[in-house]
Amino acid sequence: MGDTTESDMARANTGASRLPQHYREKGERIFAVMDRSQPFAADTRDDGAPADIAPHLLDQDGLRILDCLHRNGFEAYFVGGCVRDLLIGQKPKDFDICTSARPEQIRAIFPNCRLIGRRFRLAHLYCRNGNLIEVSTFRAKPPPHGDGEGELGAEDLLIVRDNVFGTSEEDALRRDLTINGLFYDVERGRVLDFVGSGLSDLKARRIRSIGDPEIRLREDPVRILRAVRFAARFGFEIEAATWAAMQGAIGELPRCSAPRLLEETFKFLRSGVAHDSFETLLDIGALDILLPPIAEWLRTAEPAARARFFVELRSMDKAVRQAPVDDTLLLAAILTPLIDESDANHQRLLPAAEQFLSELAQSARLPRRISDRIRKIFWAEAILTGRLKRKRSLRSFREHPDFPFGLKLLELHVEARGEFQEFFEAWSAGEVPAPLKPPKGPSRGERRRRSRARRTAAEACSSASLTKDEALSEANGDKAARAQASVGQDSAPSQQLSFGFKV
Ligand code: ATP
Ligand code: MG
Repeated sequence: MGDTTESDMARANTGASRLPQHYREKGERIFAVMDRSQPFAADTRDDGAPADIAPHLLDQDGLRILDCLHRNGFEAYFVGGCVRDLLIGQKPKDFDICTSARPEQIRAIFPNCRLIGRRFRLAHLYCRNGNLIEVSTFRAKPPPHGDGEGELGAEDLLIVRDNVFGTSEEDALRRDLTINGLFYDVERGRVLDFVGSGLSDLKARRIRSIGDPEIRLREDPVRILRAVRFAARFGFEIEAATWAAMQGAIGELPRCSAPRLLEETFKFLRSGVAHDSFETLLDIGALDILLPPIAEWLRTAEPAARARFFVELRSMDKAVRQAPVDDTLLLAAILTPLIDESDANHQRLLPAAEQFLSELAQSARLPRRISDRIRKIFWAEAILTGRLKRKRSLRSFREHPDFPFGLKLLELHVEARGEFQEFFEAWSAGEVPAPLKPPKGPSRGERRRRSRARRTAAEACSSASLTKDEALSEANGDKAARAQASVGQDSAPSQQLSFGFKV
C-alpha cells in the first residue's frame, strides 16, 4: 500500500533513471532466481468466461513476483490502483501486490527487496528497467488500545502504525476507497471485490470511503486528499456521506506528518488535474492546510486575478499530461501568478517571491533545497524575460543547469497568458531577444534628491532591518530606485547566486 511517507518518498527518489546501481544489479539478479519463461495469467475465468482482465495488460515483472510468491505457498494478488485503472480502460501508473507473506518472508524470497516504512511496513521490489513493484502484507484492523504494533486510541482515531497482519478480506476493508479495494486473482482470471461495492461504485463513477467514513477519514486524514485527487482524476462524484465526513475531518489534516502532506501536495501538482483538485481543496478548506499563503491569497484576490491563477493551473495540467514536469517547476508555476499580481510592474518580483517562499517554508515546511531551487528558477525566468540583467556571459548563462528550467517556466506562462511569447521564441531558437526598454535614468534634480534620500535610507537601514536599497526605495518613493533595488544591481545584503547576481 502506498500510504506512507517513507514509501512515497522512496518511490519519488527511486524513479527509473535514478535507481541506484546496486539495486539495478539486484533487479537483474532477481530473474536468475525467478523463472524467466512467460509468467502465467489466466485468459479465461474458472467459469469459462473471458478473464476479467486480459493477460497482456498485466505487468510481466508483477506476474513473475506473484508466481514466485504462489510457488512459495503464499496467497498473492494485484491490488488497488492497477486493478481499478485496468477495469476503466486506463494505463496503471504502477502495479501493487498484496500477499499473505510477511515483510521478512518477502525479503527472504527476493534478493532485490528493500523493506521500507515504519507506520506501514512494506517491501519494494526493484525489477528490470527501473520498474518498482510495491508488495504489502495483508493488514487487519489494529486493536483498539494500541497493544503491540497497532495503536488506536478510543477517541483519538489517528493510526500511528498500521502493521497488524490479517487475511485478504480484512486487508480489503483496511483500504481507503471502495474503488481502490479491488484485488485481481491472476490464476482464476477474476476480480475479487471483498468490500462488496467496489465494482458497482466504479461503474457508477462514485468515490466512496470503505467502512464508516467518519471513522476511516479520521484514522488517516490523508484519505481526504486521496478522495479529492481520484474524484478529479476520473471525473467521479464524491458520495454524500463521504463528502460530509471529509468536511468534518479537515481539522485533523495537520496531524499528518508535514513531509507526507507535502508529498500529497506534489501529487496534486503532478496529477494533470490540479485545476479541478485545487477548486475542491479550496472549497473544503484543505488548501489552507497544504499551501496556506496560496489559499489566503485566493480568498482575498480580485476575481480576475483569481481567474488568472486557475488559467495558469490549466496550462500546467496540460503540460504535465504531455510529459512529466519537475516538481520544483510545478510549484514555481503556481506561485508566479501570486508574485506577479503582488507587483504588477515586476519591480519587486524577487522580494515578492522571497516572501511567499519563506511563508511556505514555515507553514508547509517546504524544505530549503526546494525553495532554493525555486528561487533560482525565478531568477532564470526573470533574466529570460529581460526583467533582470544577466551578469555572466551569455554562454555560461545558456549552459547553466537552471536555464532549461527557467525556459520551461517561461513556456508555461506563454501558454497560460500569451505574455513574453517573443522572448520564449527567441531563447528557444538559440537567439537573444531584444532587451526590454531600460528604466529611465534619473535627471540631475532627481539624482540630487536621491543622494539626500540615500542618507535618509542609511539611517532607516540602521534602525530597521531593511536592506539598503529597500530602505532607499521607501525613503525615496522613487520608481527608478525601486527598480534598481529589485533588479539587484549593487544591492545589499549580497548573496551571490549561481547566475552571478547579488540580491
Ligand atoms: P495511483 O494510480 O495514484 O498509484 P493507487 O490507488 O494505486 O493510485 P497508491 O498510492 O499506489 O494509489 O496506493 C495503492 C493502494 O493502497 C491504493 O489503491 C489503496 O488500496 C491503498 N492505499 C493507499 N493509501 C492508502 C491510505 N492512506 N489508506 C488506506 N489505503 C490506502
Ligand atoms: Mg498505485
